[in-house]
Amino acid sequence: TPDPKAVDLRAAIREIPDFPSPGIGFKDITTLLADPVALDAAVRGLAAAARPLAPDVVIGAEARGFLLGPALARELGCGFVLARKPGKLPHTTVRAEYALEYGTDALELHSDAVAHGARVLVHDDLLATGGTARALCELVEQLGGTVAGCAFLVELAFLPGRAALEPRPVHALVTYE
Ligand code: AMP
Repeated sequence: TPDPKAVDLRAAIREIPDFPSPGIGFKDITTLLADPVALDAAVRGLAAAARPLAPDVVIGAEARGFLLGPALARELGCGFVLARKPGKLPHTTVRAEYALEYGTDALELHSDAVAHGARVLVHDDLLATGGTARALCELVEQLGGTVAGCAFLVELAFLPGRAALEPRPVHALVTYE
């Protein structure tokens, strides 16, 4: 298996202009997921960035945080916690509202999903405005967990996502300036 740093993840991501609305450059990671070398490098690259943060658990946001999140958790020897769209989780939940690059939404967590004092790695496929990841951080902290850091496959650095997550550590494998 090649060093994850030697694999061109950027080349494995497809860019779709004006999706889902005009002016949005959509980063389509389905091409990366379908490529076994890129998929492996993405999971191991995220794990290498996250390992020094010593997380106990990985949390991912519906839906694209569910794609690499469990593989990343397993690579780190952690469990995986789901943050879902409202009404999907069956047990008692806590909820956070957030703004998207396109629209608004909310996420819910099972209220017993994060142990008090747990070190949590927040994961999503892509960091844009930071609204989604910030909502995840706030849910974790609401339950008494600590955000060890945030790990993304892609960061859109021309948007203020990193600033929205300050002072929490942020890692991304592919950055678009
Ligand atoms: P944000 O909350 O603004 O940081 O947006 C992050 C979420 O929206 C992630 O779950 C992404 O999957 C999705 N997203 C936002 N912008 C894009 C984009 N340009 N390409 C692909 N996904 C995006």
